Amino acid sequence: MRVTFLGVRGSTPAPGEAFVRYGGHTSCVAIAHDGAVPSLLLDAGTGIRRTSSLMNGEPFRGSILLTHLHWDHVHGLPFCDATDRVDSRVTLFVPDQLDGSVPLEVLSRGMSPPHFPVRADELRGDWSFESLSASSLEVDGFSVLVEEIPHKGGRTYGFRISDRTGSVVYMPDHCPSALGDGPDDLGEYHETAMSLCQDADVLIHDAQLRREELAAEAYFGHAAVEYAVELARRANVKRVVPFHHKQSRTDDELDDMARRFDGYPQVTFATQQTVIQL
Ligand SMILES: [Zn+2]
Ligand SMILES: [Zn+2]
Repeated sequence: MRVTFLGVRGSTPAPGEAFVRYGGHTSCVAIAHDGAVPSLLLDAGTGIRRTSSLMNGEPFRGSILLTHLHWDHVHGLPFCDATDRVDSRVTLFVPDQLDGSVPLEVLSRGMSPPHFPVRADELRGDWSFESLSASSLEVDGFSVLVEEIPHKGGRTYGFRISDRTGSVVYMPDHCPSALGDGPDDLGEYHETAMSLCQDADVLIHDAQLRREELAAEAYFGHAAVEYAVELARRANVKRVVPFHHKQSRTDDELDDMARRFDGYPQVTFATQQTVIQL
């Protein structure tokens, strides 16, 4: 399995020279089988526009899994050259909102006039829209475990993606303090988070905040980087990848944060250049 980070920023894109090294695109991670082009995309933030750089000119043929429907996780969807072409084939999994709406209706609340000129079913290519519930499913040759996790404002999932080479957990938006302060005032190491992460090779996790910012800013629904690292340690994860960096966090500030975490587990702050091979 090869994991390529296409967008690592949280909340809104962050252009400008202070953000070049980590990158300004919002959440998108591409997953590929060994030696193949990506067939699975996690979220559709503006980073999804970079998918075509991995496709060797081929159309994208596979699936997109959305953790939730906040802007920073869907706004790249209409602007991806690899999916918006006549020969693409895309299955888009949309979190079930438990209100009886079909997936395209849910998506169209943000992606249709007057918010946006086109609907998702007007994009080019062969698209299908599936409702996603907490479950285990096979997607394009990967085993995917889907679990609901606390965030804020709409149903939000964490994913565990596995194949014979290993497992990657993706939890870009997670608010463990919504369940209580936990043992170190960073939020609860709750059962769902622990079961998603247990013995995984890689954990890609919300690192929007620092410990000292939690009290003032946790109401946006995010975690502190210290929680991500401690969750990985408790769940015996080999490598944790802090992700969904705060929109105002500069490259130099992220370097400073990264220097604080030496030792177990291995900590790799996500950049738009990060590639992990399992
Ligand atoms: Zn987000
Ligand atoms: Zn969110």
